[in-house]
Amino acid sequence: MIPFLELHKINARYEASFRGVFQDFLDSGYYILGNKVKQFENQFAHYCGVKHCIGVGNGLDALRLILEGYKILGKLNSGDEVLVASNTYIATILAIQQAGLKPILVEGEGRLFNFDMNALLTAKTEKTKAIMPVHLYGQLAPMDKINALASKEGWLVIEDAAQGHGAKHHDGRLAGNLGDAAGFSFYPTKNLGALGDAGAVTTNDDALAEVIRKIRNYGTSSKYVNDELGFNSRLDELQAAFLIEKLKTLDADNEIRRNHARSYLKEVVNEKIRLPFYDGTENHIFHLFVVCVKDRPKFLSYLEENEVGYLIHYPIPPHKQEALKAYSGLSFPETERIHDEVVSLPISPVLTKEAVAEVIAVLNRY
Ligand SMILES: *Cc1c(COP(=O)(O)O)cnc(C)c1O
Repeated sequence: MIPFLELHKINARYEASFRGVFQDFLDSGYYILGNKVKQFENQFAHYCGVKHCIGVGNGLDALRLILEGYKILGKLNSGDEVLVASNTYIATILAIQQAGLKPILVEGEGRLFNFDMNALLTAKTEKTKAIMPVHLYGQLAPMDKINALASKEGWLVIEDAAQGHGAKHHDGRLAGNLGDAAGFSFYPTKNLGALGDAGAVTTNDDALAEVIRKIRNYGTSSKYVNDELGFNSRLDELQAAFLIEKLKTLDADNEIRRNHARSYLKEVVNEKIRLPFYDGTENHIFHLFVVCVKDRPKFLSYLEENEVGYLIHYPIPPHKQEALKAYSGLSFPETERIHDEVVSLPISPVLTKEAVAEVIAVLNRY
């Protein structure tokens, strides 16, 4: 059996340093917003090439707190419209809704699994105030086009970088530094994953950073002084300590993923399996390797018979989810096709070359 993902194996590589880190943490007696959070924030800001990183509880909160922060700063107001691709993970949409803003779903397209740029132009109104591109599956969104449109229209650009840690734009900037602010998740399965929930906001905006630093911690500027109506969403000290260790190998891990992807792309030759677009650069970190097939149930049984692990990201589009009933009348044929056809194949930094070769052989026999 070739498992889809072996989280235990991924983290076993850091076992010795994790044990040391935990011992230091235990000895310090400091559990919340201590030196490890500060250290990770500095290192991740430096890594992304931004002025500020604010550690928060998870990726959903990172996105939500950016929007809440902009509301406090007066740059967004309740009811403003925020554009988001209809094939995203539901978290992007929930963040917008939870912040009292209006998600406007925009048809997706299957090359970059991102906005259909023409649909974007028809979806905008005078109430549109922000756009949230998602670097879905690890592939950067078309940021040049998005930023050009946003600056023409005066929109804020908020990256959902939860699947994009380390993805590099052609101008050298990394995900997290390609808009006004970005939300990261360090959920355990992400390319930079903690051993529990964790997230962060990155930005070059001093005012936004200051307000998010407050609202992640009850709106306080100093102990028991509340400047804003805040939340409790702090990056956990122990998770920060683990993330410091894992950040050291993020680039190397992303390169292993890209090499596996290159093998799949070169060696899988089967007209029944549509391979993902990849331009060969570092703008893709292959958080997932997603193929499209017409008769998915048949393909999935074949993978099961041949003991190849898989997952589906995602089986139901957001507008067809029970939780988003208000959107059920909308029609996004391309997004629906994507959700019917996608299959994620094994790709991870601990997957061996032999396992990749085995998956390739199975795919070529299909
Ligand atoms: C994982 C993910 C999130 C949410 O992150 P959590 O840490 O689980 O809250 C948001 N957006 C996308 C695209 C994700 O993949």
